[in-house]
Amino acid sequence: MKMIPRPNRARALMCALLLQLVVSAVASAQVTAIRAGRLVDPDAGTVATNQVILVEKGKFTAIGPNVAIPAGAEVIDLSALTVLPGLVDAHNHLALTYKEVPERNTYYFTYMLDPTPLRAIQAVSNGIQMLAAGFTIVRDMGNNGNYADVALRTAIEQGWVPGPTIIPSGLIIGGMGGQFSPTPEMAIDHKIVYPEYLDADTPDEIVKAVRQNALFGARVIKICVDCKPWGYTTDEIRLVIREAAKAGLKVEGHVQTIDGGKRAVEAGIWSIAHDNGMTDELHKQMAAKGVWRAGTETPISLTGHTTQQRYDKTVAMLRNAWENKTPLTFSTDADYYVPGKTRGEVAIEFIETWKAARIPNADILRAMTTSGYKVSELEATRGPIRVGMIADLIAVTGNPIERIDALRDVRFVLKNGMVFKKDGVMLPSAFFHGGPVNGWNVR
Ligand SMILES: [Zn+2]
Repeated sequence: MKMIPRPNRARALMCALLLQLVVSAVASAQVTAIRAGRLVDPDAGTVATNQVILVEKGKFTAIGPNVAIPAGAEVIDLSALTVLPGLVDAHNHLALTYKEVPERNTYYFTYMLDPTPLRAIQAVSNGIQMLAAGFTIVRDMGNNGNYADVALRTAIEQGWVPGPTIIPSGLIIGGMGGQFSPTPEMAIDHKIVYPEYLDADTPDEIVKAVRQNALFGARVIKICVDCKPWGYTTDEIRLVIREAAKAGLKVEGHVQTIDGGKRAVEAGIWSIAHDNGMTDELHKQMAAKGVWRAGTETPISLTGHTTQQRYDKTVAMLRNAWENKTPLTFSTDADYYVPGKTRGEVAIEFIETWKAARIPNADILRAMTTSGYKVSELEATRGPIRVGMIADLIAVTGNPIERIDALRDVRFVLKNGMVFKKDGVMLPSAFFHGGPVNGWNVR
């Protein structure tokens, strides 16, 4: 990489700063006023009627029933709709679309046939599909080739393409082989499928792997706790957590056994992916310790992606977690194509499992919003519809607290104060730019 000499660098930075000021000045001239027929506060589980929401410079500036609309403001009439904060999928893989035939649940062919650039383009498309379905935040938990998830985040943040706010995890860190069962040629020579996982068996390798992900832009660290029979010990998980904390990152563990779940909870992990390793006792411990559960509860309605037996257990365990007040997030692990559905429509389908577990609608909605902002560590800046927060919101027909299926028909999406979808139609032109409108340094 060519280094820019210091004086030029300073000038370049100054230009960027001035440009940002100009962009801000243009944006500040424009106030958007949204008339909301109903406004849901998922945290409180309440609905207010006939609210006015003002948006300026991409943030909420006023909310209430008697807010005056400034002259010259752009007025968006959602008085026939229910407005609510954006949704969160706490576990997806936007740069992965595994091939049903012939590799179902093996994944090798995707890794061999689809290069990272192609997967990054898939990720852009999947991100747009998620945003159109109302998901304004997606935690992307690995299996994205060579950091396609970080590239997607950067492209969205710099202003090249629309998409949810991405929390990328980079490469999944695991003992040799990760979730694969590689041949010696693959595992030792790293010739074919790598770097889909970061091999880290020893403490030194664990430290290095965490640092590599932090260096290349991960916002959360993902580990395989027990993908192999030996897995990580409680102390090794603690080492990951300590090292990640130095970079300000939390750790999510892929857990597939009860022993793995015990070690992850004992180590004090941030979040646990999948429900395979969950028990009543672990749910109680997670509730006491505040460990997030990202259960990835595949609905039986996505034919072929779970079995009746597996589904019944998933529903029972989700119910058990709710009864134990385990911190619940909405998470899908949707990394496949269901003909006729967008990635966002596949993700929203997961409410079927929550309905089957008889989780109250207000709690489902809380898992999809408030809990999602917290597990993503964004709750101070983005998510709730409150003055001072970045202006993301969606609108649906009907009231999701009365009928959660209302979320299946997202009519309107606002992201960063810009309209992305209106009257059920994507209108993303405000999000496309021929350059990094928010600056090259925005990540
Ligand atoms: Zn996953």
